Amino acid sequence: MKHQWVACVTHDIDVMSFKGFKHHGYSVLGAGIEVIERHRSFMNFCSFVRRIYSSEFNNVDSLLLADGDTPVTFFVAMQQGNGITYTKEDIEPVVRWLTSNGVEVGLHGQTGDLQEQHDSLTDMLHSQPHGIRMHKLDFRNLLGRFLDDIGYLYDTSIEVPDKFKLFMLNDKTVEIPLNVCDSTLFQKKKMDLSIDDAKYMTREMLELAKSQGGVFTILMHQKNYSPQYPRHFEWFNWLIDILDRDKTCLKLTCSVVAKYFMAKELPYQESRK
Ligand SMILES: [Zn+2]
Repeated sequence: MKHQWVACVTHDIDVMSFKGFKHHGYSVLGAGIEVIERHRSFMNFCSFVRRIYSSEFNNVDSLLLADGDTPVTFFVAMQQGNGITYTKEDIEPVVRWLTSNGVEVGLHGQTGDLQEQHDSLTDMLHSQPHGIRMHKLDFRNLLGRFLDDIGYLYDTSIEVPDKFKLFMLNDKTVEIPLNVCDSTLFQKKKMDLSIDDAKYMTREMLELAKSQGGVFTILMHQKNYSPQYPRHFEWFNWLIDILDRDKTCLKLTCSVVAKYFMAKELPYQESRK
């Protein structure tokens, strides 16, 4: 069957262990409020607290297992700060493991020297990363000289819920608009939706993307792929299952979707012919 639309699944790595949480108190308080609001059971709250104070926290392998046959793109940071708690040394074995499994890895850009971060990841990958997503979608930090100098194939730092068509940022770089993000749906300071509302909203967006023959770009943070984040966890499992069942959906990594766009081969570009 001919593919009618595209899904692009991405994962940002912000935290490698619960010990890395800067403010344990806030995390516990937030989880406690979720119990009162019935987003989380009391038993789940207890396991959350136990996990924060005891063990390592790395969902990369379980997330990749959940992705199944869907090719995905991970974004990893090369610099600590602003909520990113791991070091280059901490992430290096994860990057090696991902690339040895054929997974695409891009730069999770931080404030500071982006050239240096780019070079560090290039050393780790033994080749230049194809693209970038800024941490906290801080797109302003990317603009200007840097983007022109490095010449990334793509950026995916602009969050737009209803734009499913790629566009050129400059002569060389394609923008892949980010459409739906687990943190935006469920974070206290953002939409804080119930699981049913989040599924409803996601379904509406997905149908819109599909009707346009567009590219639906999804961000699921690896930190949140855990039963300790029940809404995020359920939402992503539900979504990946929909993509899996939809035989009209072509699943592509960020660099491949950008290359398709350049070659004018995306479903909405074909339909224009
Ligand atoms: Zn981030």
